[in-house]
Amino acid sequence: MLWRLGLEKPTRYRLFVMKIGILAVGRVDSEVLVGVHQGLVKTFPDTACSIIKDVLPVPKLAFDKKRNQYSSSVILNEIRVFASQNEKFHGVLGVVDVDIFVPELNYVFGEACTPGRAALISLWRLKPKFYGESAGSAVFVLRALKESIHELGHTLGLKHCPRSLCVMHFSNSIFDTDKKQSLLCDQCYLQAALAISNLG
Ligand SMILES: [Zn+2]
Ligand SMILES: [Zn+2]
Repeated sequence: MLWRLGLEKPTRYRLFVMKIGILAVGRVDSEVLVGVHQGLVKTFPDTACSIIKDVLPVPKLAFDKKRNQYSSSVILNEIRVFASQNEKFHGVLGVVDVDIFVPELNYVFGEACTPGRAALISLWRLKPKFYGESAGSAVFVLRALKESIHELGHTLGLKHCPRSLCVMHFSNSIFDTDKKQSLLCDQCYLQAALAISNLG
Protein backbone atom coordinates (compact mmCIF):
# COMPACT_ATOMS: atom_id res chain seq x y z
CA MET A 1 0.00 0.00 0.00
CA LEU A 2 2.81 2.34 0.81
CA TRP A 3 4.31 1.72 -2.58
CA ARG A 4 1.02 2.22 -4.40
CA LEU A 5 0.60 5.58 -2.74
CA GLY A 6 4.13 6.48 -3.73
CA LEU A 7 3.37 5.77 -7.37
CA GLU A 8 0.39 8.06 -7.36
CA LYS A 9 2.13 11.27 -6.57
CA PRO A 10 5.53 11.46 -8.21
CA THR A 11 4.59 14.33 -10.49
CA ARG A 12 4.29 16.69 -7.55
CA TYR A 13 7.37 15.41 -5.86
CA ARG A 14 9.20 18.18 -4.07
CA LEU A 15 12.66 16.63 -4.08
CA PHE A 16 13.65 18.38 -7.26
CA VAL A 17 12.56 21.82 -6.27
CA MET A 18 16.22 21.95 -5.48
CA LYS A 19 18.47 23.24 -8.22
CA ILE A 20 20.42 20.51 -9.90
CA GLY A 21 23.24 20.95 -12.37
CA ILE A 22 24.21 18.11 -14.71
CA LEU A 23 27.92 18.18 -15.40
CA ALA A 24 29.74 16.16 -18.07
CA VAL A 25 33.02 14.74 -16.83
CA GLY A 26 35.11 14.03 -19.91
CA ARG A 27 33.51 13.11 -23.20
CA VAL A 28 29.87 12.16 -22.71
CA ASP A 29 27.15 11.48 -25.26
CA SER A 30 25.03 14.62 -25.21
CA GLU A 31 21.93 12.59 -26.06
CA VAL A 32 22.17 10.94 -22.66
CA LEU A 33 22.65 14.24 -20.85
CA VAL A 34 19.58 15.63 -22.59
CA GLY A 35 17.69 12.41 -21.86
CA VAL A 36 18.53 12.51 -18.14
CA HIS A 37 17.62 16.19 -18.00
CA GLN A 38 14.29 15.59 -19.73
CA GLY A 39 13.63 12.55 -17.58
CA LEU A 40 14.19 14.44 -14.35
CA VAL A 41 11.95 17.26 -15.48
CA LYS A 42 9.31 14.88 -16.84
CA THR A 43 9.23 12.74 -13.72
CA PHE A 44 9.45 15.70 -11.37
CA PRO A 45 8.04 18.86 -13.00
CA ASP A 46 9.21 21.07 -10.16
CA THR A 47 12.84 20.28 -10.87
CA ALA A 48 15.07 23.23 -11.50
CA CYS A 49 17.55 21.28 -13.53
CA SER A 50 20.08 22.41 -16.11
CA ILE A 51 22.95 21.01 -18.11
CA ILE A 52 26.13 22.85 -17.16
CA LYS A 53 28.10 24.12 -20.16
CA ASP A 54 31.50 23.42 -18.63
CA VAL A 55 33.03 20.00 -19.06
CA LEU A 56 35.17 18.74 -16.23
CA PRO A 57 38.19 16.75 -17.45
CA VAL A 58 38.45 13.21 -16.12
CA PRO A 59 41.21 13.60 -13.51
CA LYS A 60 44.32 11.68 -14.58
CA LEU A 61 44.91 10.76 -10.96
CA ALA A 62 41.71 8.76 -10.99
CA PHE A 63 43.07 6.10 -13.34
CA ASP A 64 44.18 2.87 -11.71
CA LYS A 65 46.52 1.00 -14.03
CA LYS A 66 46.22 -2.32 -12.23
CA ARG A 67 42.44 -2.34 -12.42
CA ASN A 68 42.19 -0.48 -15.72
CA GLN A 69 39.40 1.48 -14.08
CA TYR A 70 38.90 4.93 -12.62
CA SER A 71 38.54 5.76 -8.95
CA SER A 72 35.00 6.91 -8.34
CA SER A 73 36.00 8.78 -5.20
CA VAL A 74 38.72 10.82 -6.93
CA ILE A 75 36.27 11.92 -9.65
CA LEU A 76 33.56 12.61 -7.06
CA ASN A 77 35.96 14.85 -5.18
CA GLU A 78 36.48 16.97 -8.31
CA ILE A 79 32.72 17.33 -8.62
CA ARG A 80 32.55 18.29 -4.95
CA VAL A 81 35.11 21.05 -5.56
CA PHE A 82 33.13 22.23 -8.60
CA ALA A 83 29.93 22.28 -6.54
CA SER A 84 31.60 24.32 -3.80
CA GLN A 85 32.60 26.89 -6.44
CA ASN A 86 29.10 26.99 -7.95
CA GLU A 87 26.86 27.56 -4.99
CA LYS A 88 23.70 28.19 -7.00
CA PHE A 89 23.31 24.43 -7.34
CA HIS A 90 22.00 22.42 -4.41
CA GLY A 91 23.37 19.37 -6.14
CA VAL A 92 25.79 18.74 -9.00
CA LEU A 93 25.40 15.44 -10.82
CA GLY A 94 28.56 14.47 -12.69
CA VAL A 95 28.19 12.07 -15.58
CA VAL A 96 31.23 10.15 -16.75
CA ASP A 97 31.69 7.53 -19.44
CA VAL A 98 34.52 5.50 -17.97
CA ASP A 99 34.46 2.37 -15.82
CA ILE A 100 34.53 3.42 -12.15
CA PHE A 101 35.22 1.54 -8.93
CA VAL A 102 35.54 1.84 -5.19
CA PRO A 103 38.22 -0.32 -3.54
CA GLU A 104 35.84 -2.84 -1.98
CA LEU A 105 33.78 -3.49 -5.13
CA ASN A 106 34.49 -4.64 -8.69
CA TYR A 107 32.66 -1.64 -10.05
CA VAL A 108 29.98 0.88 -9.17
CA PHE A 109 27.30 2.62 -11.18
CA GLY A 110 27.78 5.79 -9.16
CA GLU A 111 28.74 7.39 -5.90
CA ALA A 112 27.62 10.45 -3.94
CA CYS A 113 28.44 12.56 -0.94
CA THR A 114 25.89 11.37 1.63
CA PRO A 115 24.74 13.92 2.50
CA GLY A 116 26.36 16.55 0.33
CA ARG A 117 26.14 18.41 -2.95
CA ALA A 118 28.06 16.16 -5.31
CA ALA A 119 26.99 13.01 -7.09
CA LEU A 120 28.46 10.90 -9.86
CA ILE A 121 27.14 8.30 -12.25
CA SER A 122 29.02 6.27 -14.82
CA LEU A 123 27.43 5.38 -18.14
CA TRP A 124 29.97 2.65 -18.87
CA ARG A 125 28.01 -0.30 -17.52
CA LEU A 126 24.57 1.11 -18.27
CA LYS A 127 24.91 0.71 -22.02
CA PRO A 128 22.94 -2.20 -23.44
CA LYS A 129 25.84 -3.10 -25.72
CA PHE A 130 28.07 -3.65 -22.68
CA TYR A 131 25.90 -6.71 -21.97
CA GLY A 132 25.54 -7.70 -25.61
CA GLU A 133 21.95 -6.49 -25.56
CA SER A 134 20.27 -5.06 -28.62
CA ALA A 135 18.06 -2.68 -26.62
CA GLY A 136 17.96 0.90 -27.89
CA SER A 137 18.82 4.22 -26.35
CA ALA A 138 15.54 4.45 -24.39
CA VAL A 139 16.70 1.63 -22.10
CA PHE A 140 20.11 3.25 -21.75
CA VAL A 141 18.66 6.65 -20.86
CA LEU A 142 16.19 5.13 -18.37
CA ARG A 143 19.04 3.34 -16.59
CA ALA A 144 21.00 6.58 -16.44
CA LEU A 145 17.96 8.37 -15.07
CA LYS A 146 17.40 5.79 -12.31
CA GLU A 147 21.03 5.94 -11.24
CA SER A 148 20.92 9.75 -11.34
CA ILE A 149 17.90 9.92 -9.05
CA HIS A 150 19.51 7.31 -6.79
CA GLU A 151 22.73 9.28 -6.37
CA LEU A 152 20.87 12.58 -5.95
CA GLY A 153 18.86 10.81 -3.22
CA HIS A 154 22.13 10.03 -1.46
CA THR A 155 23.09 13.71 -1.55
CA LEU A 156 19.96 14.31 0.54
CA GLY A 157 21.19 11.79 3.06
CA LEU A 158 19.08 8.86 1.92
CA LYS A 159 20.54 5.43 2.55
CA HIS A 160 19.87 2.25 0.59
CA CYS A 161 16.30 1.04 0.70
CA PRO A 162 15.37 -2.63 1.20
CA ARG A 163 12.45 -2.33 -1.24
CA SER A 164 13.66 -3.69 -4.56
CA LEU A 165 11.37 -1.44 -6.61
CA CYS A 166 12.46 1.77 -4.89
CA VAL A 167 15.02 3.80 -6.79
CA MET A 168 17.13 3.94 -3.59
CA HIS A 169 17.59 0.15 -3.67
CA PHE A 170 21.24 -0.74 -4.16
CA SER A 171 22.05 -2.00 -7.64
CA ASN A 172 24.42 -4.89 -7.36
CA SER A 173 24.07 -5.48 -11.07
CA ILE A 174 22.23 -4.11 -14.06
CA PHE A 175 19.35 -6.52 -13.28
CA ASP A 176 18.65 -4.57 -10.09
CA THR A 177 18.74 -1.30 -12.01
CA ASP A 178 16.31 -2.64 -14.60
CA LYS A 179 14.01 -4.03 -11.91
CA LYS A 180 13.69 -0.91 -9.81
CA GLN A 181 11.58 2.04 -10.82
CA SER A 182 12.66 5.62 -11.26
CA LEU A 183 10.67 6.62 -8.16
CA LEU A 184 11.18 6.76 -4.41
CA CYS A 185 9.00 4.66 -2.13
CA ASP A 186 6.94 6.53 0.46
CA GLN A 187 9.48 6.13 3.24
CA CYS A 188 12.32 7.48 1.12
CA TYR A 189 10.02 10.21 -0.17
CA LEU A 190 9.35 11.42 3.37
CA GLN A 191 13.02 11.40 4.24
CA ALA A 192 13.84 13.35 1.09
CA ALA A 193 11.08 15.88 1.71
CA LEU A 194 12.40 16.47 5.22
CA ALA A 195 15.95 16.87 3.91
CA ILE A 196 14.79 19.37 1.30
CA SER A 197 12.89 21.41 3.84
CA ASN A 198 16.15 21.60 5.76
CA LEU A 199 18.07 22.82 2.70
CA GLY A 200 16.58 26.19 3.42
ZN1 LIG B 1 23.57 3.89 -3.54
ZN1 LIG C 1 12.75 3.44 -0.57
